[in-house]
Amino acid sequence: MSLQQNLKEIAGKIPAGVTLIAVSKTQPAEKISELYAAGHRVFGENRAQELAMKYDVLPRDIQWHMIGHLQTNKIKYIAPFVHLIHSVDSEKLLAEINRQGSKLGRVIPCLLQVHIAEEETKFGFSPDELGQLLASRGMEEMKNVSVRGLMGMATFTSDEGQVRREFRMLRSLFEKLKDSVSPLNVKMEELSIGMSGDFHIAIEEGSTMVRVGTAIFGERIKPQNQ
Ligand SMILES: *Cc1c(COP(=O)(O)O)cnc(C)c1O
Repeated sequence: MSLQQNLKEIAGKIPAGVTLIAVSKTQPAEKISELYAAGHRVFGENRAQELAMKYDVLPRDIQWHMIGHLQTNKIKYIAPFVHLIHSVDSEKLLAEINRQGSKLGRVIPCLLQVHIAEEETKFGFSPDELGQLLASRGMEEMKNVSVRGLMGMATFTSDEGQVRREFRMLRSLFEKLKDSVSPLNVKMEELSIGMSGDFHIAIEEGSTMVRVGTAIFGERIKPQNQ
C-alpha cells in the first residue's frame, strides 16, 4: 500500500476530536511531503535538531509536535515554532522552556509526561511529583509556558490488559487534575496516549491525541527506543 493509503486507513480508525500525529522520526522529508500533499498537517518528531531541519525545508503550515525526551540545551532549536512539546519530564526542563519562551515573547504549549509504564527506562513525572509541581508557586510564575495536558507511554507488552490499566490510571489522574483548581497557565485538555500498537486501546480509554509512526510509515530503518 502507498503511504497515502496507509494514512487514510489509520485516519479512518480515529474518531473526530482525536488528533492523529504522524510520527515521522527517521523518515525523509519527501515522505512527509507525500502525506502533506494528501492534506495531513500534523507531524511528530523525537529529536530537536531533526525536527528543526525538517521545519526548515517543509511548508510552514505544518504543526510540529515534539514527542521525545528533550535536553535543555536543545530547546532552542524548536522553541520559536513548535506546536506542542509532549515530553516535558522535569520541572527543570519546563523552567528552561519558559525562559526561552520569555526571550522569544512566546507562550509555548506543553504536555507533562507521566511515568505510567512498569519499565524503569521511561521518562516522566510520578503522579506525586506532578501534583507537587502543579501546586507549586514556581508553576504559577511560568508565564511563557501553557500546560495543556498529559502524555504517557504504556509498557511495551502484548498484554492488552496491562496497557489498558496503565492508560486508565493516567486518564483518571487527568480527570482529577481537570476538576481541581490549578494555576492559570495549566488547562487539562489533551491526553496524549496511544502509538501504532495500542492506539485503539488508548482511544477507548479517552485519548485526545495519538502518536502513530510505524503503522503509517512502515518499520523504521534505525531502531528508536525513546
Ligand atoms: C516513536 C514514537 C511513537 C510512535 O511509535 P510507533 O510505534 O512507531 O507508532 C510515539 N510516541 C513516542 C514518544 C515515540 O518516540
